[in-house]
Amino acid sequence: MTSNPQMRKKIISVSELVKNYGSFHAVKSISFDVYEGEIFGLLGPNGAGKSTTLEIIETLRSKTSGKIIVDGIDLDENPSAIKKMIGVQLQTSGFYPGLNLVELIKLFGGLYNREVDPMALLKKVNLVDKAKNKSKELSGGQKQRFSIATTLINNPKIIFLDEPTTGLDPQARRNLWDLIREIRDNGTTVIITTHYMDEAEQLCDRIAIMDEGRIIKLDSPDKMIDELVESGFERPKQVKSANLEDVFIHLTGREMRDE
Ligand code: ADP
Repeated sequence: MTSNPQMRKKIISVSELVKNYGSFHAVKSISFDVYEGEIFGLLGPNGAGKSTTLEIIETLRSKTSGKIIVDGIDLDENPSAIKKMIGVQLQTSGFYPGLNLVELIKLFGGLYNREVDPMALLKKVNLVDKAKNKSKELSGGQKQRFSIATTLINNPKIIFLDEPTTGLDPQARRNLWDLIREIRDNGTTVIITTHYMDEAEQLCDRIAIMDEGRIIKLDSPDKMIDELVESGFERPKQVKSANLEDVFIHLTGREMRDE
């Protein structure tokens, strides 16, 4: 990605977004921008307001107040134009059990009114071998890759990934990180939520940390860590230069397998 964010185009701009559920204030006037071509992470404990915020941008939930502009389009004025340019991950559990991957892609393409080349899409996510399999016959990692493929059907400018690597083994996670980076490098902006800090650190260009409906920090992972270190923070004991995951990957290899 470009190192100077000032030079980059804002693809999402959220200003003073508020969401109340009755008298409960779930999102308390947050503002942030996402730049075109970055992987932007939204982190925070459960209940922080992440899903609410994302679903509002995805046009799936109404807001109480605030302004959202996606690629120059005001969400209040033209939500359907926004819907057309974003890709949202579909839950694999919702896939029709009787259809194979090619048939599912054709079906979803039809929903978007798009002519899609299923094999080209499966190639992007390394699932050509599974083209004739049903989604229930896929492993966890393969299901996630297929679910990411479904976000790309309408050739979106922005995709939203909700905890895409939860429950996967280390190889499958790294494999998915490579895929997400590739999607970003091909020009798609990626918004991701995760509970894995190593994932956020490795993958995200910038991160917003939410807590109790507010953004409490927004920066690159590197800058956040440097700032903490500069403030005098030290880990209680000397950190080893490898961790158990490194041992696991070293022993079992990082190449893709039928995970
Ligand atoms: P996160 O994704 O960070 O876990 P959510 O956006 O799902 O957080 O939820 C934020 C807060 O809003 C939580 O306290 C949750 O209980 C509340 N909430 C979410 N959806 C609703 C709803 N439909 N009605 C009432 N409260 C809700």
